[in-house]
Amino acid sequence: MLDTGLKILVVASEVAPFAKTGGLADVAGSLPKALAVQGNDVRVVLPRYRRIGDYATVTDFPVEVGQRKETCIVRRSRIEAKSSRGTKEVPVYFVDNYHYFDRDRLYGYEDDAERFAFFNLSILPLCEELGFRPDVVHLNDWQSGFIPLLIRIRGRHSALWNETASVFTIHNLRYQGRFPKVTLGLLGLGEEYFTPGGVEFYGDVSFMKAGLLFADVINTVSETYAREIQTPEFGEGLDGVLRKRGSDLYGIVNGINYHEYDPSSDPRLFKTYDSRNLGAKVDNKLALQRELGLSLSHEPLVGMVSRLVDQKGLDVLLEAMPEILSRPLQFVLLGSGDERYEEAFRSLARSHPGKVSVTTGFNGILAQRIYAGSDMFLMPSRFEPCGLGQLIAMRYGSIPVARRTGGIADTVSEYDVSTGTGTGFLFDRYEAEDLVAALDRALDKYRDRSTWNHIVKQAMETDFSWNKSAAMYTEVYMEALSRRGRVERPA
Ligand code: ADP
Repeated sequence: MLDTGLKILVVASEVAPFAKTGGLADVAGSLPKALAVQGNDVRVVLPRYRRIGDYATVTDFPVEVGQRKETCIVRRSRIEAKSSRGTKEVPVYFVDNYHYFDRDRLYGYEDDAERFAFFNLSILPLCEELGFRPDVVHLNDWQSGFIPLLIRIRGRHSALWNETASVFTIHNLRYQGRFPKVTLGLLGLGEEYFTPGGVEFYGDVSFMKAGLLFADVINTVSETYAREIQTPEFGEGLDGVLRKRGSDLYGIVNGINYHEYDPSSDPRLFKTYDSRNLGAKVDNKLALQRELGLSLSHEPLVGMVSRLVDQKGLDVLLEAMPEILSRPLQFVLLGSGDERYEEAFRSLARSHPGKVSVTTGFNGILAQRIYAGSDMFLMPSRFEPCGLGQLIAMRYGSIPVARRTGGIADTVSEYDVSTGTGTGFLFDRYEAEDLVAALDRALDKYRDRSTWNHIVKQAMETDFSWNKSAAMYTEVYMEALSRRGRVERPA
């Protein structure tokens, strides 16, 4: 019987504020808080990379990775979930091993298969060592993809694990954790799993495919992306698997943490503001211009904070750039990623001093100052599972000019002059001229102060908090538990 909250273990390879390269960290850091506030016993696990502090050791145990005997050291910290009802603690456990994780970067090493095989193999014994018996284990992206299968295998001999439900969330289908066949041996799995209907993927082993096949329920981070990935265009070679599991595949849009992302209290801003006090937003714009060496101007400031990779639509943006820069506006970019994109944008900044500012690298403070100081936020993404950039931008009153795909389609609506509704300016075709046309519509509205302020207020007051989405996750957890015979669900 499940009459109280659920015991939930959230497993992810990055969790804010401990380690972050993208949106997954935001989600893995904020969804657990929302679930805790709603009355669940939630705990979070991630690897301990070098950049994470030396938190207290809780326990250690041996883990066999193929022939190798390694030690999993478990460390512990916590995140605090604040709500109107007080503060709740969410324990955070770190899987530590000097050989695998005492490194500068999170991913991108030759032995990533072995590193994350170790991570996957550590999770069940970690629960047993801690005496934490989860109702639901919630896995995220390829780095935790084999855990549903490991739970099923353990469940053959353990009633407890047999009753444990697994939910696997796709945050980005492009990154699949595809490695040579020997990876199976590292995971202690036999040849019988290496079939096209199993975890084989074109001669390799796929962590992502393992998660998609063996989790009780799967979901992704917006309804539109859940539909898109069942097509060859967005399916990254796994659309067939996803269509087969179509009736177990849900779309739940991400929220953002309203305490962390709050323009009325954000300590990273030059000046705090809210939707009734937009004058102070202008002060942020002027301060940002000063900080970045732009001309002090009331021209619209177009911002962008993004990983600089193909997904983000940078080829189309670069093609559109000459046209965009012929308009009376300023352009501010913060991003890091592919060298060719970093250099292309740096060169634009050099040739347009005072008008274009480009900062490469990862900088959480500057990111918030751009959300607060910009009037418009560019997201010309080729595909976008959910996208947090547009949500944070709207919360800070920066109006998205974005491509209608994935989560952007589910969270931004085109401003409609006749009804006065809408929170952004969208385009459909992945073409430079369509991006410019959307930006021109935004620039046109910007000229009319009262219309623009109305759009800004509307965007800032739309609810993108976790409340609704966390409740939907609880529904999905219950659905997964029903597959384990733990709860009865109406047909
Ligand atoms: P993705 O997960 O594909 O990178 P999202 O829009 O879902 O894209 O999430 C991106 C998150 O990372 C946002 O919180 C954004 O502000 C942040 N971010 C991206 N690039 C940088 C950067 N260079 N510096 C600071 N924050 C960044």
